[in-house]
Amino acid sequence: MKNKQKIGWNMECSFRQLPEPFYTVVQPTIVPSPQLVIANDELANSLGLDTAQFQTEEMVAVFAGNAEIQGIEPIAQAYAGHQFGNFTMLGDGRALLLGEHLTPDGHRVDIQLKGAGRTPYSRGGDGRAALGSMLREYIISEAMHGLNIPTTRSLAVAVTGEPIMRQTPSTGAVLTRVASSHIRVGTFQYAAAKQVVEDLRELADYTIERHFPDIRPENRYLSLLEQVIARQASLIAKWQLVGFIHGVMNTDNMAISGETIDYGPCAFMDSYDPQTVFSSIDAQGRYSYRNQPGIAEWNLTRFAETLVPLLHEEQAEAVKLAEDKLSKFAEIYVMEWLSGMRAKLGLFNQEQADEELIMDLLDIMKNHQADYTNTFRSLTVGLQEEMFNKPDFEQWKERWTDRLQRQPENAKAIEELMKRHNPSIIPRNHRVEDALEAAEKGNMAPFMKLLHALENPYAYLPEQQEYVAPPEDGTSFQTYCGT
Ligand code: AMP
Ligand code: MG
Repeated sequence: MKNKQKIGWNMECSFRQLPEPFYTVVQPTIVPSPQLVIANDELANSLGLDTAQFQTEEMVAVFAGNAEIQGIEPIAQAYAGHQFGNFTMLGDGRALLLGEHLTPDGHRVDIQLKGAGRTPYSRGGDGRAALGSMLREYIISEAMHGLNIPTTRSLAVAVTGEPIMRQTPSTGAVLTRVASSHIRVGTFQYAAAKQVVEDLRELADYTIERHFPDIRPENRYLSLLEQVIARQASLIAKWQLVGFIHGVMNTDNMAISGETIDYGPCAFMDSYDPQTVFSSIDAQGRYSYRNQPGIAEWNLTRFAETLVPLLHEEQAEAVKLAEDKLSKFAEIYVMEWLSGMRAKLGLFNQEQADEELIMDLLDIMKNHQADYTNTFRSLTVGLQEEMFNKPDFEQWKERWTDRLQRQPENAKAIEELMKRHNPSIIPRNHRVEDALEAAEKGNMAPFMKLLHALENPYAYLPEQQEYVAPPEDGTSFQTYCGT
């Protein structure tokens, strides 16, 4: 007990206030020989946890799913979801919520294990996860955090000492994920599918108290819808601005908190093409880069549908209220995206023709298969790209230069604004894959070095330089689900 106190956990499980159907208490599956592979000191410190304790047997047991924290029984959460458009009842099939940690500065965060064994929601799955996939989630989620994009975080990865079967035998591992909650659009769909309005209301009340405590009593469920829409519109705009493709935007992978969640077959785009898809199972391109805003709106429509019984006693009126809020998604998204794009181009003020200027640049980039990140990076610091001596780009650059001169800010201020919005480094697939391959062979050095370089993507540091080159063979990369 003394040791636990020193580590700094301050755990509760408020989610268990909700009625039974929303979770199942799960006994952890014991693994033979847990070992810590990586722990996130910076995150641990911000949570008030002492990483010096992380190597203790007691903590390693927690990170591998062999032990509870402070006697709190783990639970698996129930949810449903539209997977590639098809509705299914789901739930944590390989994740366990250990509880909620209250941080010294008053935040409540979920501490969840991913890959910790079977649960009543595992269906045919083994409840396990591969080391490579968990380290991939670790590094990409931490990179997203570095990019100032709301996201779940990664506290630790431990191996279990048990091999698992995937395409080839893999090392089993558990990721400790920190999230402001794991309430998903799919959690509401689950409640709606159960058709017990009181349970749905409890979930909505719990969500409001946890994530939107400032919502006023009048029409509070409509306000919930409004705020979830606003957070998602802002989140997706941020993804688009850095070229992030989530890959599986199923409704069960959309968090009500507005954090990016469930890093599966996600990836960052190299050369600019709005139709880019990485996921091997997304043959139709449902979750391609350009479809992300539309899919988010589709998912939010599913969310709004679940709320209908709470919005108004007359169903027709409830639907009208929901539609009115949903119609704001596109407006907010475009506003956020435009303001982000203006910043990427160093524009402080607004002109009517800005959108055209931006769209024209993107068209030129597409035609020349220009690297998305490096184009903006080179525009920021005055470097050369292959595209920059093409006539169509040169014409565009003249328009841009004229536009920059129609604002009072000087070159230095413009460069600073652009640096804050154009990362000099992203976790490029080929570099992530190299790091994961080494890690799977027991060499964590390339992973640690890349992780470190990704911490401050807007700092333009010399050590980031070695990671800027796109892959030599273009974007043939594919990512896989459920590994
Ligand atoms: P995902 O595509 O990772 O969002 O997962 C979709 C659903 O499949 C969720 O309910 C997961 O819990 C479940 N799932 C994914 N992988 C496994 C696994 N290896 N064993 C059991 N359930 C899994
Ligand atoms: Mg998921």
